[in-house]
Amino acid sequence: MSATPGHLARLDYAVLQQCMHCGMCLPTCPTYDATKLERHGPRGRISLMRALADGELQLTKAFGEEMYYCLGCLACMSACPAGVNYAEMFEAARADIEAAGLLDNPKRNFVRWFTVKFIFTRPRLLRLLGRCLYLYQALGLQTLFRKLRLTVLLPQSLRELEPLTPTVRRHFSDALIREVETPAQRRYRVGLLTGCVQDLIYSEINRDTADVLLAHDCEVYTPRLQHCCGSLHAHNGELELARRMARENIIAIEKSAGSLEALDAIITNAGGCGSHLKHYDHLLHDDPAFAGRAAAWSRKLKDVHEWLAEIGLRPPPMAVAPQRVTYHESCHLCHGQKISHAPREVLRAIGGLELVELPESNWCCGSAGIYNITQPEMAGKLLARKLRHLEGTQAPIVASANPGCSVQLEAGLRQARRPVRVVHPVSLLAEAFRRAHPKSARPPAASTRQPSPSA
Ligand code: SF4
Ligand code: SF4
Repeated sequence: MSATPGHLARLDYAVLQQCMHCGMCLPTCPTYDATKLERHGPRGRISLMRALADGELQLTKAFGEEMYYCLGCLACMSACPAGVNYAEMFEAARADIEAAGLLDNPKRNFVRWFTVKFIFTRPRLLRLLGRCLYLYQALGLQTLFRKLRLTVLLPQSLRELEPLTPTVRRHFSDALIREVETPAQRRYRVGLLTGCVQDLIYSEINRDTADVLLAHDCEVYTPRLQHCCGSLHAHNGELELARRMARENIIAIEKSAGSLEALDAIITNAGGCGSHLKHYDHLLHDDPAFAGRAAAWSRKLKDVHEWLAEIGLRPPPMAVAPQRVTYHESCHLCHGQKISHAPREVLRAIGGLELVELPESNWCCGSAGIYNITQPEMAGKLLARKLRHLEGTQAPIVASANPGCSVQLEAGLRQARRPVRVVHPVSLLAEAFRRAHPKSARPPAASTRQPSPSA
């Protein structure tokens, strides 16, 4: 037990007292839906957080476990008529839990130190780890390991995680995208954020995003070495590390483009990252050196679908082969950023694609950052539910705009032996542009800087 919940107690009290206990959020909460227990729903969690901030309750291990049972999917925020800012309370609560060491044990401490504090704060090291994993996979060692059933030698928790291992790409984003790429006619200047995990396992989505931006007359600035956006840190109680990641990314974009003011927008294509990246202003509002820059950053930060809708989405001139596609919504794109229509418009703009609505498309798939690692049972139930709905659509393609969701869906589909392709909406758009004009959406020769090799 610990005495003072500092982050919760320091929250603006207006945030803590918004909830009017109406319960309208309950049917949208996956953990409440699974258990029907008040403490596993947003209303119960908010009551606990407010009681802690008021000093009526003390921090306990049970509270810590409850807040890590929450997915952080923010579906409750979409449903709430009172505009409750659950995200802010949730991050503060987890920061208090970590500061008090409520859930400490040697295994958890090591995993948190290695991932949250060590690897995901060092982009060069993360790429080196990605290289090693790429070689392990490309040389067939992973296949051999699985065929010989050597996974049984792993500790149980690692054995359960092994099938989730995504395929690391041969080339990372800095090898695929030049630092500055210029379209034939320039209307806008934009920065492009390539992400940390996305950079290793979906770097082609970053290339596709740059291609689509070029096809919309955007000059694209892509800093060579970018840091994790910091959402992993913020959602896991490490707010100071999240601030460090935010400062690093602001500096990287400033160095690449000259200044933030030189850019019309800063683009992200990952729903989970975007939801956090848009709040750098809030994260750094107490930092005199960064408050103004973070405010400019947040004003310019756009999800790629949102940006295309804003500047006028150009439909590809040629249709693709007729096929069905369905769309899974990333929680932090639809609930965190309220972007639901724009990705569907991207898909509808591609002639030949038939968009079939996915039932419960905005219901969490169980990925939720590292939830599928920390809470595999609940994550598995959510994934099974999502796969059932996907099967009902009979679509051979599911579009997903968040790397965490894509990894989760690909793993589930692979295990179920279902030949469904998981693809980013912008990748489908880039493919359609290339089909129409094989060279028009590729990086033009007029680029001003050369690519540097991956670290
Ligand atoms: S964030 Fe998601 S899991 Fe957590 S309380 Fe809200 S709806 Fe429920
Ligand atoms: S969080 Fe919003 S929807 Fe849920 S009980 Fe409170 S006021 Fe009602």
